[in-house]
Amino acid sequence: MYDVYALKYGERDTTACQFFYRESSHAPLTLHYFVWLILGGPHPILVDTGFLDDDAQARGIRNYVSPASMVERAGVKAADVPLALITHLHYDHWAGHSLFPGAEYWIQQDEVAFWTGPYGRTPAFRGSANVNALAGLVTLNYANRVRIIDGDREVLPGIRVHRVGGHTAGLQIVSVETARGTVVLTSDASHFYHNVETRQPVQIITSLPEMLDAFETIDTLAGAARLVVAGHDPQVAERFTVMEPGIIKIA
Ligand SMILES: [Zn+2]
Repeated sequence: MYDVYALKYGERDTTACQFFYRESSHAPLTLHYFVWLILGGPHPILVDTGFLDDDAQARGIRNYVSPASMVERAGVKAADVPLALITHLHYDHWAGHSLFPGAEYWIQQDEVAFWTGPYGRTPAFRGSANVNALAGLVTLNYANRVRIIDGDREVLPGIRVHRVGGHTAGLQIVSVETARGTVVLTSDASHFYHNVETRQPVQIITSLPEMLDAFETIDTLAGAARLVVAGHDPQVAERFTVMEPGIIKIA
């Protein structure tokens, strides 16, 4: 059985109207930035890579620490991570890939196509991109360090990726069997619990119907155990067990 950890590496303040779909409230909203670590199998598995100091500076991130240092505080050397499941290619999930020099990255085909295709550079989408990190995707692919997948896959027995799309063209979420039940790492299929629990999407979308279907997929995968880990919600630290600052044990 696996253990799952959420590792927080930064925070950013915004408002509800800047974030939720067709939201009029100007109420303050704080995002937490996480990578997730799955232990207990034959090797550690990282979910997403966070970002580097350049994005932390440019985007006004508070309390930034390197995602690699958080992984090391959780007991795994960054260079010893052989596999990273990349939920999507937004800067806050992909731009830290160089911190994990031994990893193979699993990314959905639709996601790779989108960010190397005609729409990524448009004003509607480019704000979520770190262009250098996206360019690195090509280099890594030719170094045989990227596994481009199309649809749902078993990663190891009890660990699966599920392509949901919606927020981005090839967003995938991760389910993990644990002693407490199935943990669902939603990443940005549900930034906050508010998204999945009220069916209100985020503003950044490639397909609204896929985003709404993703909420159904999250609930179906989670089942009665309800071990849902929202992608950017400070409530993760309240709903699960804080082991030490920034290290939250999900199950
Ligand atoms: Zn994100």
